[in-house]
Amino acid sequence: MEKEIAKETLGFQAEVKQLLKLMIHSLYSNKEIFLRELISNASDAADKLRFEALTDSALFENDSELKIRVSFDKDKRTITLCDNGIGMSRQEVIDHIGTIAKSGTREFFNSLTGDQAKDAHLIGQFGVGFYSSFIVAEKVEVITRRAGLTAEHGVHWESSGEGEYSLENVTKEHRGTDVILHLRKDEDEFLDDFRLKSILRKYSDHITLPIIMKKADKDEDESVNQANALWARPKSEITQEQYDEYYKHVAHDFEAPLCHIHTKVEGRQEYTQLLYIPTRAPFDLWDREHRHGIKLYVRRVFIMDDAEQLMPHYLRFVRGVIDSNDLPLNVSREILQESKDVEAIRAGSVKKVLGMVEDLAENHQDKFKTFWSEFGRVFKEGVGEDFANRERIVKLLRFASTHNDFEAQEVSLNDYIGRMKEGQDKIYYATGETFNAVKNSPQLEIFRKKGIEILLLYERIDEWVMTHFTEFEGKKLQSVAKGDLDLGQLEDAEEKKVREQQVDEYKELINKIKDALGDRVKEVRVTHRLTSSPACVVKEQYDMSANLERMLKAMGQPIPSSEPILEINPQHPIVQRLKSEDARFSDWSHLLFDQALLAEGGELEDPAGFVKRLNELILALASK
Ligand code: ADP
Ligand code: MG
Repeated sequence: MEKEIAKETLGFQAEVKQLLKLMIHSLYSNKEIFLRELISNASDAADKLRFEALTDSALFENDSELKIRVSFDKDKRTITLCDNGIGMSRQEVIDHIGTIAKSGTREFFNSLTGDQAKDAHLIGQFGVGFYSSFIVAEKVEVITRRAGLTAEHGVHWESSGEGEYSLENVTKEHRGTDVILHLRKDEDEFLDDFRLKSILRKYSDHITLPIIMKKADKDEDESVNQANALWARPKSEITQEQYDEYYKHVAHDFEAPLCHIHTKVEGRQEYTQLLYIPTRAPFDLWDREHRHGIKLYVRRVFIMDDAEQLMPHYLRFVRGVIDSNDLPLNVSREILQESKDVEAIRAGSVKKVLGMVEDLAENHQDKFKTFWSEFGRVFKEGVGEDFANRERIVKLLRFASTHNDFEAQEVSLNDYIGRMKEGQDKIYYATGETFNAVKNSPQLEIFRKKGIEILLLYERIDEWVMTHFTEFEGKKLQSVAKGDLDLGQLEDAEEKKVREQQVDEYKELINKIKDALGDRVKEVRVTHRLTSSPACVVKEQYDMSANLERMLKAMGQPIPSSEPILEINPQHPIVQRLKSEDARFSDWSHLLFDQALLAEGGELEDPAGFVKRLNELILALASK
């Protein structure tokens, strides 16, 4: 609704106020970025106009040469940026520059650390570009008119960035937006032709829109930037710095990316892709609303941001551009979803990204480490999500392992296989809620004794990943907490014989324990899994792991729980003692079972009962 309203004064949203303060203080060391942000907004506005004009060419108002003009006035101490892009209506001004309507605002504020460098990085990611004007300006004016509205629907916005802004309707002949910065006292450095041009070149060379300035001391225009799409230029003409700057622009990031891939694909589908892996995970990577970072262009025309159809979920951290030569200009998200062409582009892009990660793994180990610690948890989802590329994905997985007992995940499956013992035919792993819980789990004892490596999985996603991942290069993946332990060739004949004898010898005891525990256990059996603990609990091979059961329960999901199997260590003195126990046999049995549950991270249904039994047994022993 466009109404004639006289000048009014409105308050900024509380978040905006907070942000402004933060920005002015934490971005001060990098203040020239205000130009990058304003140019980027003008470029977005031009993209939006071009896109809307595809269906309504009248929006161009006979002025289809989109550009941006930058000028400065030494006497008035102003810098002005004028664009002839889409412009804004009064309501749009209120909605877009006065509020932060983005999803993830709260996460953003929560993730601020107070550390200037880190926060500056976050601000960049959050993309609150316009407000960066106030780093250098004590007053900012915006005069704008939306394409398609008549001249008297212009709007004049003004603020000194301190909590309020004023809004007034004005007449504006030309559509688009003028931003006028009234510089603070000590910002004279920007009132300089050479300085302005060099900043513009540094940050905006890749902008497809020409940036026009007057030639120094002449009344003649010149274009400051190259104004052609970076990805459309030949690779050999693009410097690393230009690639990095472009990344910062598309990703709203302050930090250079980890790596990029730039290719032109020809054949049935023709498209250019310029894709980046960031150095750091964005603060909202885990947010369900998280925006996907691929911009889609069709023959250089910007079509949409966050084209999630172009990248699978597990690669949602990838940023960049895909420019198709074949898609229709009027593609919508719905069309993208069903298009076979899009599927082909997506498949091709995934292959490129995996290639990029493989290259890091093989040739740039430090970078790969960064990649894995930032994005490993997301990347792993690919094991279950991307069947076609599973082979490549699993080779890139990294785990913590008993090889070094480091929490850092650095062991690949190939490393593991290279260290397998003679006669070992399975890849063993253990899952748990934390690194320490899984590292110290009793189920690992025999493996540690025999020097068999175990992968230690302790992230939530791991349980889910492992349900999709059962074999690697002909070797079964085996949870150490599931099924009857069968070490196969890893056990010698003598050990086997002793074990069989023990099964016979403990038959009676086993039955008694089973009677004492009743429904609490599925089965009780003797194990050779343990060396120092008296007992442990395991699950049947195809039952859900206890860790996964706990996770699902914590998420409020109703699950059919399966009773665990209690395994006892015949060598342990407590177990041996049980053979001659009578009066307190039931208490001993429950105690054995409860401590086995605790040791693998489980919760007791009756903790008070456990404590009572324990105390009684201690007292009984003490009074002997
Ligand atoms: P972002 O660009 O990430 O959306 P900004 O703070 O830079 O965040 O800009 C906020 C919004 O203000 C933009 O999304 C856009 O809707 C509007 N805006 C800013 N500058 C312009 C402009 N030059 N032309 C039209 N709209 C603009
Ligand atoms: Mg912006």
